[in-house]
Amino acid sequence: MAMTLDKTEVWSQVLNNLSGKISRMEFCTWFKKVHLKEISGGAVLIGCPSEMNKNWLENKYSTVILSNLQKSLPEINKIFFEVDLSLADKASQAPQVFTENKPRKLPRQPEVRLEAGLESRLIQPKFTLNNFVVGEENRLAHAACTAVAETAINEAKKYNPLYLYGGVGLGKTHLLQATANEIIRRQPESVVIYTTAERFTNEIVKAIREKKTEELRKKYRRADVLLIDDVQFFSGKEQTQVEVFNTFNDLRDLEKQMIFSADRPPAQLRDMMDRLSSRLGWGLIVDIQMPNYETKLAIIQEKAQAQGLILPHDVQEFIATNTRKSLRELENILNKVGAELDLGGLSPTIQSVGKIFRKLNPEEDLISAHDASRGLAKSPDDIITLTSDYFQVPATDLLGNSRKQEIVFPRQVCWWLCKEVLKMSYEAIGEAFGGKNHTTIMHGIKKIKELIRTDSATARHVHALKKDLGVK
Ligand code: ADP
Ligand code: MG
Repeated sequence: MAMTLDKTEVWSQVLNNLSGKISRMEFCTWFKKVHLKEISGGAVLIGCPSEMNKNWLENKYSTVILSNLQKSLPEINKIFFEVDLSLADKASQAPQVFTENKPRKLPRQPEVRLEAGLESRLIQPKFTLNNFVVGEENRLAHAACTAVAETAINEAKKYNPLYLYGGVGLGKTHLLQATANEIIRRQPESVVIYTTAERFTNEIVKAIREKKTEELRKKYRRADVLLIDDVQFFSGKEQTQVEVFNTFNDLRDLEKQMIFSADRPPAQLRDMMDRLSSRLGWGLIVDIQMPNYETKLAIIQEKAQAQGLILPHDVQEFIATNTRKSLRELENILNKVGAELDLGGLSPTIQSVGKIFRKLNPEEDLISAHDASRGLAKSPDDIITLTSDYFQVPATDLLGNSRKQEIVFPRQVCWWLCKEVLKMSYEAIGEAFGGKNHTTIMHGIKKIKELIRTDSATARHVHALKKDLGVK
C-alpha cells in the first residue's frame, strides 16, 4: 500500500517537515538538490549532488530524515545515500518548501559571505581552530595559523606566506579552512579565497581556453587572503606555475596574506620553477607530523562528541591504535559507527568497529589495543639490548650476578619490563636471566614498582624505555 505513494510526494512531505526544524540556510545548503531516488522494501536511496553533501546528510541528518520518512512509510528502516553528479547542475529539487510557511524571499546563495564565488563554498564551517586538537606534532602549525588569522587583515604580517607541509590526512586542509573561517569570523567583509591547487589549475586551463586569463588574475588580485591547498599538485604544470607566480607577486605587493599547504617542503617540490618554490618558502615553513597516541585519542573524542557519539573507552583505544598513517578515515569510521547506531544497532564494540576498519582497508592488519601495548618488543633480548644501551651497561652484566647498584638497578628494570611488556612469568624471567630464582625476580620487580611510584627519575626512565620499545 505504501508503494502507491509517489516518491516525489514522499520526499516533499519529508522536506516540508524538515523545513520547520532546520534553518533556511541549512536547508538551502544541504537539501536543495537532494532527491529521493528509490524506495524498495524497507530501504530508500537518496541521491546527493556531491560527496560533501552526501557526507553531511549521512552524518547530521540521517536520523531526522529516517524518522520523517517513517511518517509516510512506517516500514522504512534503512537509508542509503549516493552521489549523483547529475543532480549538481539540475535546478533545485525543492525550492518552494520554504515559501509555504516561511518568508518568501530565499537567499539565493546562502553561504556567500565572500565574493569569491565557488571557492568560498569549499570552505567547510565544521573546521575550526578550536576543534583542532593540539599535540606536540602539530602545535607549531596550529599556533602559526592562529597568529596568521589574527593579523591576516590590515595588520603587519609576520608570517607571509605561511607554508604548512605534512603527509596525507594529518590536518593540513583542516587547518587551512579553519584559518579561513577564523579570518571570516573576525572580518566578515574580507575576501578570503580558499582553493586547491587542482581547482586553481583547472580554472587556469579554462581561462586560457576562453581567453580570460586577465579576468582570472583580477579575481585573485581582489583577495585579501589567499589559501591554496596541496601545491605539490602544481608540479610539472608550467603555465599554471607562471600564473601562480604572478598572483603571488601581485598579492605580495599588496601585502596580502597567503597560506599554502603541500605534502613536502618547498625546496623538495618537484618540477617546480625555482623562483616559485623559493617564494613559497619566503615566510614561515611549518611541518605537521602524525599525532602520537594520546593526541589521536583526543581527536577521536573530539570527533565523536561532534557527532553526538558515545564510544566505550576500549573502542576509542582500538581506533587510535589502528589509525596509523592518516587521520582521514577517522571521521569516516565514526560516521559509519554513528550510522549503525542510528539505524538501531547496538553500542559499538571492538568487533563491530573492526569490521568497519576491515571494509575500508582490507589489506591492513588490525592490532587490538592489548597487542599494541605489548608493542614491538618480541623477546627479553630486545629489552636487554635496549636497556644496556640506555643505561650504558654491558648486556653481560645485566645477565650476570654483580651486586653493584649501577648494575642491579638496570637489571631490575629489565625484569620489570619483561613482566610489564612481555607478560612473562617470574620463572620465565629468572630463566632468561641466567637461571635466577623466581623470588629474586619478584622482589626486584616489586622494588622497581615501588620506585616508579616514589621516584620521578625511575618513572622517567621506564617511561622512556617503554616508548623506545614502541609501547604506549
Ligand atoms: P590533510 O589535508 O593533511 O590530508 P585533513 O585536514 O583532511 O588532512 O585531515 C584529515 C582528517 O583528520 C580531517 O577530518 C581532520 O578534521 C582530521 N584532523 C587532522 N588533524 C586533526 C586535529 N589535530 N584535530 C582534529 N581533527 C584533526
Ligand atoms: Mg588536504
